[in-house]
Amino acid sequence: MSVLKMTDIDLSGKRVLIRQDFNVPVKHGKVTSDKRIRASLLTIKHAVDAGARVMIMSHLGRPTEGEFDPQFSLAPVAEKISELTGQKARFVKDWLDGVELADGEIAVFENVRFNRGEKKNDEGLSKKMAALCDIYVMDAFGTAHRAQASTHGVARYAPVACAGPLLTGELDALGRALDNPPRPMLAIVGGSKVSTKLPVLDSLSKVVDQLIVGGGIANTFIAAAGHKVGKSLYEEDLIDEAKRLILNARESGGDIPVPTDVVCGKALEETAEASLKRADSVEDDDMIFDVGPETSGKFADMLKKAGTIIWNGPVGVFEFDQFGEGTKSLSMAIAESPAFSIAGGGDTLAAIEKYGITDKVSYICTGGGAFLEFLEGKKLPAVEILEERAKEQRKNG
Ligand code: ADP
Ligand code: MG
Repeated sequence: MSVLKMTDIDLSGKRVLIRQDFNVPVKHGKVTSDKRIRASLLTIKHAVDAGARVMIMSHLGRPTEGEFDPQFSLAPVAEKISELTGQKARFVKDWLDGVELADGEIAVFENVRFNRGEKKNDEGLSKKMAALCDIYVMDAFGTAHRAQASTHGVARYAPVACAGPLLTGELDALGRALDNPPRPMLAIVGGSKVSTKLPVLDSLSKVVDQLIVGGGIANTFIAAAGHKVGKSLYEEDLIDEAKRLILNARESGGDIPVPTDVVCGKALEETAEASLKRADSVEDDDMIFDVGPETSGKFADMLKKAGTIIWNGPVGVFEFDQFGEGTKSLSMAIAESPAFSIAGGGDTLAAIEKYGITDKVSYICTGGGAFLEFLEGKKLPAVEILEERAKEQRKNG
């Protein structure tokens, strides 16, 4: 990897704009899990100790772009950073026109997604962000697969663009873990982001020996097998893609197992009653929220034989215990397997914590989508632009 590293650059007196992934859970104006913020302290402290004027930006949740919405404000994050660093971090609501900071001072900017043009990587917005700093630092691995103004455009126009220690650490560790991994290599892809994750499976299936699908992705495969999925989360437009993936797998002597039993509910609620059904007996008003024990057992058998296990996405709505058995059983199977295991994704990490297998997973990665794209062997756009900028800089001496 040939990017400039923040830790190799003199930051003293410089305006340093750091992109972090502070997409953290917030309840009643308080951060309820500060893991991601703690992870970034190393980067922040390094910049502060070097005498930089530190500006931090991040997204949080999925607000409507261009609209302020208090539930997605980064104010609670600024408070948490003050608490953890023991130094007041100034929260700045309107920051695009610039802020005055002293050396060693920290500012936390309001949610980047409140700005129109963030997701489209708008040039004007990117230039405005770039004008705020002398050095831009990309340190958010979890968003490195997205080319947006705060992850990509800003890096193009900032005077200097480099990678922070969290990002380089993650890239190095993943690269090492995936360099000649023990076979067979098995990937479990679940969760709810069907439209972004299902299309990744095609290239992923060329890298791994075996695919297992769960969650909303499995529902799309159940529909592709010709079964009713009722009101389940699935992607109708991707049914053909799911069929093609199964055919491809069979042609090369493998298979993508479609769940044979499922756990359904009538509403996505904590108190919803769970009922176990055959995958071909789902009713019109059912929602599939988990895989059943027969399917889980099959998954566990496959995991036992794996050399490397890759996991992204819970296979059920594990937040509610009655729909968590599939993900729990999967977690136990990973914990018991002698295979080298790598897991990534915000909700996947929450499941790992819930079922207490943190120490049993060989490598834990903070990104979900970025993790999958890295596995595919794709260049992450936010990393690619840093590489381009590094090349330019070297050429210009
Ligand atoms: P990650 O954050 O690990 O990348 P995702 O964000 O894609 O994973 O998905 C996690 C979410 O998927 C969880 O909140 C879980 O409740 C939900 N989920 C899993 N299975 C289902 C399902 N069958 N129907 C609806 N939601 C599901
Ligand atoms: Mg998630």
